[in-house]
Amino acid sequence: MFASIPSAVVRGVDGHPVTVEVHVGIGLPGLTLVGLPDTACREARDRVRAACLAAGAEWPNRRITVNLAPSDQRKAGSGLDLAIAVGVLVASAQVKEEAVAGYAFVGELGLDGTVRPVPGTVPIVAALRSPRVVVPWAAAPDASLVDGPSVFGVATLRDLLAVLQEDEPWPPGPPPAPPPAEPAIPDLADVRGQPVVRRALEVAAAGGHHLLMVGPPGAGKTMLARRLPGLLPELDPTRSMEATRIRSAVGAPLAGMVRRPPYVAPHHTATSASLVGGGTDSMRPGAVSRAHGGVLFLDELAEFAPVVLDALRQPLEEGTIRISRARFHAELPARVLLIAAMNPCPCGEAGRPGACRCSDAARLRYRRRLSGPLLDRFDLRVDVLRPDVEELLGTERGEPTEPVARRVAEARRRAAARGVAANADLPPSRLDEVGPLGPAARDVLATALRTGRLTGRGLDRVRRVALTLADLAEEDGPISAQHVAVALHLRADVGGLAVAA
Ligand SMILES: [Zn+2]
Repeated sequence: MFASIPSAVVRGVDGHPVTVEVHVGIGLPGLTLVGLPDTACREARDRVRAACLAAGAEWPNRRITVNLAPSDQRKAGSGLDLAIAVGVLVASAQVKEEAVAGYAFVGELGLDGTVRPVPGTVPIVAALRSPRVVVPWAAAPDASLVDGPSVFGVATLRDLLAVLQEDEPWPPGPPPAPPPAEPAIPDLADVRGQPVVRRALEVAAAGGHHLLMVGPPGAGKTMLARRLPGLLPELDPTRSMEATRIRSAVGAPLAGMVRRPPYVAPHHTATSASLVGGGTDSMRPGAVSRAHGGVLFLDELAEFAPVVLDALRQPLEEGTIRISRARFHAELPARVLLIAAMNPCPCGEAGRPGACRCSDAARLRYRRRLSGPLLDRFDLRVDVLRPDVEELLGTERGEPTEPVARRVAEARRRAAARGVAANADLPPSRLDEVGPLGPAARDVLATALRTGRLTGRGLDRVRRVALTLADLAEEDGPISAQHVAVALHLRADVGGLAVAA
């Protein structure tokens, strides 16, 4: 007897349909699983048998062959368990073929017959072509986010058999997910002083410009970075779906669609795989993908391993991560606003006369840890100083997040009218058309180029930032000299790191 049951697995952030083919026939009793299963997937053999017995079904004392098609692609994880169990039960005539027609099955089985969620419910369900899908009860709300098949949740294999064998009604789905319990984003009003960095944060949010902050410990770099997501607009429907798939693929809890820009801050001991993804057959997305559509904050940038920082360059350039393996390749979305922070030297006190205890050689080594090409990705580079006593003790609060976010939203609308999400995405060929320079602005840039303060490579970046400044001021027409001067100032030779902008 033969059965063919649709299911799917997740790789990276994409679901891939898998057909579970089960043959029960004459031969030595046992179950053979073929079709490139990984270790977790191969162990389905033991889980499925125990779960079937726990659910009160019979385990056929025959030769069972399970093929996972397409057989040339690796299958990772335990999400095919339920489909394999249903396949065995149909092929051994315990469940009628008609009862499962039109259904796909997704879920891991416990030895006691519990049906458990697996990471990637959203991309898995999105990949299915069946009109109906059976998923673990707890995963039903996530599965319902996909505009596709009708979703049925089951808590145990026994519950599923009651429906398929006895024609009982489907168990009711879980109650709707509670409203997202995301922590509130802290407000910019709490930041005292720091006018230049506040301006840089606003420009970063408005134009999608990567920002590097250099300053001593205690200057408030992390505090500033944490406030950035509050300045960004909600994700548009496309990004929202992408971010939801990514969250689902890494097995993070969902409470409906992800709408708020994520904020991800990996530690400086992170490996390349944890930052850009990959590693196993399931191609788990890394921190950069988890930050897709939002903010990736790298604190202590100079402490990251050079090879890890190197792995960042391609995603920053292309907004996507490509991972290739012998049998397949995966593409992971990775469009982030990169915010990085570092000390000016190993002790952190360079810049304060007489305070730095580092040798010249140590300072130089520290700075050389950042490669020129990476440094070049930062359109904005600012020094962050510790707030002074007056600022700390003063009663004056900074401008709150809300009005800043409104200016950012207006700037983003202007960028959208140019056909890009943010000005940082504008190709150089369009700068003359969308951000022509006024004569005085041209003079400022000419001087900066002549004195070596600006290189040809940095020129386009400064022009994009100047355009963002004009957008924030809601100005049309040629870019003014003042905006260009501020853009140059926001791309400063921070802590002596950069030779020239
Ligand atoms: Zn020092």
